[in-house]
Amino acid sequence: MIAKQTLSLLLNTGRTIKQGISMEAEGKLSEAYADAVARIELNEDDMKALGITDGSLVEVISKEGSIKIRAFRSKEVKRGHAYVPMGPWANMIVDPQTMSLGMPNYKYTIINVRPSEGKPTSLIEILAHYNAIIPTEIEDIELRGGSQKVYEYMVCPFCGELCDHLKLEVVGNEIKKVIGGCANSVSKLRNYHKHRILRPLIREGGHFREVSLEEALRRAARILSSAKYPLLFGWSSTVNEAIRVGVELAEILRGVIDNTSVVCHGPTALGAQDVGTARSTLGIIRHKADYIVIWGSNPSASHQNHFSLWIFSRGKWIKGRKNRKVVVIDVRETPAARLADELVRVEPGKDYELITALRMAVRDLDIELPSVAGVPTETIYRLADEMKSAKYGVIFEGMGITMTGAKHRNVEELIKLAHDLNEWTRFVLIPMRGHYNVTGSDNVFLWTTGYPFGIDFSRGYPRMVPGVTTAPDLLMRGEVDAALIISSDPVAHFPKRAVEHLSKIPVITIDPKWSLTATISDVIIPSGIVGVECGGTAYRLDDVPLRIKSILPPPPGVLCDDEILRRLLEMVKEYRNEGGRKRGEGYS
Ligand code: SF4
Repeated sequence: MIAKQTLSLLLNTGRTIKQGISMEAEGKLSEAYADAVARIELNEDDMKALGITDGSLVEVISKEGSIKIRAFRSKEVKRGHAYVPMGPWANMIVDPQTMSLGMPNYKYTIINVRPSEGKPTSLIEILAHYNAIIPTEIEDIELRGGSQKVYEYMVCPFCGELCDHLKLEVVGNEIKKVIGGCANSVSKLRNYHKHRILRPLIREGGHFREVSLEEALRRAARILSSAKYPLLFGWSSTVNEAIRVGVELAEILRGVIDNTSVVCHGPTALGAQDVGTARSTLGIIRHKADYIVIWGSNPSASHQNHFSLWIFSRGKWIKGRKNRKVVVIDVRETPAARLADELVRVEPGKDYELITALRMAVRDLDIELPSVAGVPTETIYRLADEMKSAKYGVIFEGMGITMTGAKHRNVEELIKLAHDLNEWTRFVLIPMRGHYNVTGSDNVFLWTTGYPFGIDFSRGYPRMVPGVTTAPDLLMRGEVDAALIISSDPVAHFPKRAVEHLSKIPVITIDPKWSLTATISDVIIPSGIVGVECGGTAYRLDDVPLRIKSILPPPPGVLCDDEILRRLLEMVKEYRNEGGRKRGEGYS
């Protein structure tokens, strides 16, 4: 007999190691991905209150919708809170409001949780809501034996850390060993050949039809040229050379170009626009930093080599871990917190208050409360003293800062804290960027337009208005009428309301692998995998540009992103010069 108790909880979403590995090894249409993502983690006491045990089915309801998923106990989750890994299940319930910043409220949506019966919500049910076509057969590249080759100093194309010390052992076209890479890197590189899109496809009725690359590009060019206001989204998992072409395409189309910053570190860019920043490279951190703050980030899951490369390692002046103090500031005890000297638990959504209190303590001002944001005032004064006494300090700032509460105001205040500390010592702030070239995407957009994301060309010149020209808002308001999605998966990462509009407009997807967005697309163009089959330039999360090399040719007939985009751009220009359909006319 199930007790029909309902609890009102605060939902937090984020990345997990299992999610990253399953996504690369098995693909997002797999059981393994569903196992990793379709789950809710609850505090033990809340589970008791609900009368459920590990693996029980619960219904999770928010203002946006409801899903049925299995519940699991977690020591990292506080009472009154819940954690669901980012993905299509979380997106069905997250609060999509962006507060005029472009970023939906992925942290702290109010949900009701109650025990349930029957079956969990399946990915097929979610995708059916978006009129997706699930491919019946997903191909791998055939592996053929051959001679063994070893490639050194390879760059990992997974996260913003862009580790450039990888050694790859390749036999024929199979990557046999990845030395120096973390679990995510090994999973991505060793499985590069799996669940690939190997031929261009066009949606016709209820299925995909194989077409030539020429036909797919022509269809894509027609869709984009005919649209009144197309969205070009993604750009953080491709190289700078492709992003440059994307900006030109957006300008010619008078559309809008946006990258995944809008759902990760957009607020970091906005904060820096307001108050400047204080930065350094990771190399300097390794050599000099003796005080390390990790605020709202869990590199143990998202940037797994971060600790070993920059915190535990020996530098020129810092002889290793024992010469550094590491403080994690977070709402929960993350795996990263367990590697730190101290965990400072901040109340959810109260980071701004804590940063402000730290700034007051740094300036020796009186804090008249016994605690701020759940942190005792004496701890705040002690932390401020430690920071001022450090020789070289760094704050690694994650999405716990950018996605919560005051968002860009959090970042602005954190930068000001670093500025204040620079009156005493040297202190810098480095954002923990997620996708491997999201930093490059921001940089290329900045060089070419003056803005880092959400750039609108509809008036013939670039402008950026967060909350107006940013992808989630444009989709939720139904303003764009076609979309080009490159190396990104908004169906997996945008709130339900945004995906609903995406599923109603023509979508072109350029991707090496099957993504959830590919399943709702009208045109799918396969591309080569950067770091294996394609090369180019990418920016590490500390703004250092690195050259990514390729080691194998792309599959027959498959091109790299920059080449695909150049051909598409030429066709769009041709189409416009020919005086084809006028803007806004339908396409066939
Ligand atoms: S930390 Fe990031 S860049 Fe480095 S090996 Fe892991 S996934 Fe790749």
